[in-house]
Amino acid sequence: MIDQESLDAIRDGVRGLCADYGDAYWRDIDAQRAFPEAFVNALTEAGWLAAMIPEEYDGSGLGLAEASAILEEVNRCGGNAGFVHGQMYNMFTLLRHGSEEQKKQYLPKIAAGELRLQAMAVTEPTTGTDTTKIKTNAVRRGDKYVINGQKVWISRVQHSDMMILLARTTPLDQVEKKSRGMSIFLVDLHAAIGNGLSVNPIGNMVNHETNELFFDDLEIPAENLIGEEGMGFKYILDGLNAERTLIAAECIGDGRWFVDRATAYANERRVFDRPIGQNQGVSFPIAESHIEVEAADLMRWRACEEYDAGKPAGASANMAKYLAAKASWEAANACLQTHGGFGFAHEYDIERKFRETRLYQVAPISTNLILSYVAEHLLGMPRSF
Ligand SMILES: Cc1cc2nc3c(=O)[nH]c(=O)nc-3n(C[C@H](O)[C@H](O)[C@H](O)COP(=O)(O)OP(=O)(O)OC[C@H]3O[C@@H](n4cnc5c(N)ncnc54)[C@H](O)[C@@H]3O)c2cc1C
Repeated sequence: MIDQESLDAIRDGVRGLCADYGDAYWRDIDAQRAFPEAFVNALTEAGWLAAMIPEEYDGSGLGLAEASAILEEVNRCGGNAGFVHGQMYNMFTLLRHGSEEQKKQYLPKIAAGELRLQAMAVTEPTTGTDTTKIKTNAVRRGDKYVINGQKVWISRVQHSDMMILLARTTPLDQVEKKSRGMSIFLVDLHAAIGNGLSVNPIGNMVNHETNELFFDDLEIPAENLIGEEGMGFKYILDGLNAERTLIAAECIGDGRWFVDRATAYANERRVFDRPIGQNQGVSFPIAESHIEVEAADLMRWRACEEYDAGKPAGASANMAKYLAAKASWEAANACLQTHGGFGFAHEYDIERKFRETRLYQVAPISTNLILSYVAEHLLGMPRSF
């Protein structure tokens, strides 16, 4: 069992930092569609984003449980960990599959925040969730790989120094298994942009910096390949359980924020000479949200426990992400409804958090894909794709 008291110091520390970046800060960043540089720098300098980097590479060497408490607290305080979570988990591929030389070269700099590895490019416009059909390809030429293709929805590229890229190195019709023949590369964004890589921002519902990428004969050094050529898809999948659990934690933070705000407003707002929370039509959806967030939280801790013990965590991590994203979304709805018209006013921050938490039904994995994982891998029903 995870000792919750041991996580209290982490929660207190993150909460203390977040207190300097209150509602007005996030509202302003959202209105300007800006990147919260000051907050990201403060979180980095305090070392919170280096939680899961081992101590030998200058990180804190903490587990998934501690890391999840950090991101949960950011969202619980009204912020949006989506601006920073990539820095925490994109390095998993490097840590697990990179060479010792690559790890020594990059991980200490990532831990210190000197190097931002906030971006990971997997999704493509023509293939979507069907990742093994990606068309972006990398062809080896001497001591370089030449990249051609297109990616879409790639987040935080403009606020990263390096990016993890998944590209096909062996054409699909030449591999025994469709999951083979893809490789992972580290792309130095400063060197690449304007020299074979172009970046087009995508305007979207959330204040989330995300982009279309075009690769036109981009050359990258062959030494930027991570691990073995052809094994990239497996490497990406390896990092997903931790990523899904961390996203679940963010949703739990959001869910608690919505429940707190809704409860406070239901107690304070008087209509028909009584607090609106006295009406069960108002209080029940909030109570229901509380129950669902708490249930999702139990699954989150199960995923953390399994992952930190080195046990298979796929089932729990996927179910935690599913439950938490659903619970936070339903809590968002209940909170908005409780606030009536005021829920739509920017100054209450609910419409902002409502948009932010909605994303997690779709990205980094859509709800249907989790259901299909559970149906096939846990329940033994036929593979659907
Ligand atoms: C703001 C934002 C940021 C993102 N950041 C990144 C990033 O940094 N890097 C990155 O690589 N990607 C990123 N993504 C992409 C995200 O991971 C994908 O949008 C997501 O995985 C869904 O893929 P898709 O949009 O291509 O949907 P599609 O694959 O086109 O699917 C559309 C809908 O159909 C459903 N569907 C498709 N096939 C099936 C099936 N077989 N069974 C049941 N339902 C199915 C899906 O669940 C979905 O609801 C981001 C997306 C957004 C919106």
